[in-house]
Amino acid sequence: MKPNPSLAFLSIILTGVAALKPQPLLSDSIQLTQQDIGDFSAIDFGDKTAVSPDDDNSPECKVFPGDEAWPSPAEWARLNTTLGGALLNPKPSAAVCYQGPDYDPTQCAFLLNNASSHYWLDEPLAALTEWSQGSTCPLALNPEGNCTRGGFPEYVVNATNVKHIQAAVNFARSKNIRLIIKNTGHDFGGRSVGAGSLSIWTHHLKQMEFIPSYELGPYQGMATHLGAGVESWEEHNFMAANNITFVSPGCGTVGGVGGWMSSGGHTTITSKVGLGLDQVLSLGVVTASGRFVTADPYTNSDLFYAIRGGGGATYGIVTSAIFKAYPPISVTSSSLSLTLSNSSNTPPTTPGLVTDPDTFWEGVGLYYRFAAKVLDAGGYGFSYVYPRANNTFLFTTSSQFPGFTPAAVYSFMQPLYIDLNRIGINVTNPMSLSARPYGAPGIGIGPSPGNTRYRSRLLPRENWEDDGLWNQTMNAIRKATEGGSENDFYFHGTLTSPTAEVAGWPGNESAVNPAWRNNRMHAMLMDQAPRQSAERDAMFRGYMDLLREVSPGAGSYMNEGDPGEPNWQQAFYGTNYPRLLRIKRARDPWALFWAPTTPGSEGWAVRSVDGYAESQNGRLCRAGKFDGEK
Ligand SMILES: Cc1cc2nc3c(=O)[nH]c(=O)nc-3n(C[C@H](O)[C@H](O)[C@H](O)COP(=O)(O)OP(=O)(O)OC[C@H]3O[C@@H](n4cnc5c(N)ncnc54)[C@H](O)[C@@H]3O)c2cc1C
Repeated sequence: MKPNPSLAFLSIILTGVAALKPQPLLSDSIQLTQQDIGDFSAIDFGDKTAVSPDDDNSPECKVFPGDEAWPSPAEWARLNTTLGGALLNPKPSAAVCYQGPDYDPTQCAFLLNNASSHYWLDEPLAALTEWSQGSTCPLALNPEGNCTRGGFPEYVVNATNVKHIQAAVNFARSKNIRLIIKNTGHDFGGRSVGAGSLSIWTHHLKQMEFIPSYELGPYQGMATHLGAGVESWEEHNFMAANNITFVSPGCGTVGGVGGWMSSGGHTTITSKVGLGLDQVLSLGVVTASGRFVTADPYTNSDLFYAIRGGGGATYGIVTSAIFKAYPPISVTSSSLSLTLSNSSNTPPTTPGLVTDPDTFWEGVGLYYRFAAKVLDAGGYGFSYVYPRANNTFLFTTSSQFPGFTPAAVYSFMQPLYIDLNRIGINVTNPMSLSARPYGAPGIGIGPSPGNTRYRSRLLPRENWEDDGLWNQTMNAIRKATEGGSENDFYFHGTLTSPTAEVAGWPGNESAVNPAWRNNRMHAMLMDQAPRQSAERDAMFRGYMDLLREVSPGAGSYMNEGDPGEPNWQQAFYGTNYPRLLRIKRARDPWALFWAPTTPGSEGWAVRSVDGYAESQNGRLCRAGKFDGEK
């Protein structure tokens, strides 16, 4: 039989279309229908043309448990039926340690002694940073006082498909209930907890698919389709299985799509291929009206722009993302440590031992300034300066080089060691290095709940280019870090350079904080005090001002930044803020999505019952209008 040219043409078109539009993930394809809604109007879709964000008659506060308008048990039960049983009403895990109906000493002992970090990740309420919840039910043996829910959500939707998310979004919007989104709960600023809320838990959206050939505008290449709940270690296993690389968080249990991507997402290969958000080609999103949409540079482009850098939990709920993928990349690391010690107990053979503080800080400065070369070669630096007793310090750093052989790294680092030796520091350039695949298999181990709090400054490249400014920068880092000796904090410097050029398209058209594009060092002061207070904030503000003063107009990384950051609109979003605010108001006139320091969040505040401004333990109300009302 003669081939039919029109059929052949059709088949070429269909093949092309298949390459352009891969099959949706199963979780994205299960969606809420009018049949599901039936006469349950509380889960019907919203009409954003019928509301205005400026409506003066809109309720002052989100409805709170105990309010007359709080849904009845029958309504919650009906929601649960629609969700097929995915609605959870969990108690705080540590309730088992407190005298009362939940007391269970065996389970309490397990939590204290044997619960793994992933155990906590699989807990629907748990958040990694406990202070933001109000620390109302801390885990302890024979604790005093009561365990109360505090800033933990009231109900949790264990979402395994888009339909679950749509029904929960519609219910929360119709009932004016505070909505939060939790993925891993790793946020350091209290963005995945909230008193009196309904939480959408995306943790179990785990599907991943490899797309060998993906075309979108000028992009032609490999891609991966990732469910919103995948963790970095799972992504690494997927990379290893498919012999590919794609950008994922450095810590194994951080989510690869949720908050990490929405505000940036830096990692070892960021100076080489860009931030997490630079990898995104397309997103599945449930909007505030409850509709599921695709967002890419050509469809819902406002959402696509805003979600990549404009903050999580603000414009919609991401259900999946298509990321660029690359051939395997190997990474070689080289470590250096310096110890400032004035103790005669420190063996003189300790590598990098320095007894003079000025020489120690000169050595730290030599490394940091040299790191600009590492970044320009596509590398990454990960460093800490820890205060020790008697105003002494330990400096540790690892320089990581994607695509370099161990021999090339040795040669690259040698000039730094010559300089360190020249100022009298006894260190030797390590020779026995090995290259490791970036996409090596991972394991699901991360931190357990604690009280880490970051303050961040993205120090710009200009500070590396001028000797005077460089000296001021190092003086600021030194003074701020020395403050940690008395005040119990330490310094963390992450060096990476995701320029617009490295980001490529479409990352270079995103809402990323412009300070990232000009970044040399993401400089952080790290706190682990369980009790946060206005006094402690003021102390930190003084030290952070030192870093701000040497980088006027630069910014801060929200994911590892301070929820109390002054002038956060500029610091976290820079010149993108006005556009992001417009998109927020247009896409979510109900103010359904809310998280601290996200665009539009200044219109609301938590009336915290413990009186601490950054706590999520209280009712969420519009800010300003009814001052003093509780
Ligand atoms: C141990 C550790 C190491 C880290 N290392 C790095 C690092 O190397 N590089 C880096 O850039 N950051 C790092 N971070 C910071 C990390 O980027 C943030 O903690 C980030 O908020 C985690 O996002 P998540 O989705 O996993 O956490 P979550 O706390 O679940 O979510 C964070 C925020 O995103 C929102 N969100 C989550 N999922 C969605 C979704 N699907 N749609 C819309 N909004 C959503 C949440 O509501 C919340 O506001 C690290 C954090 C930890 C704890």
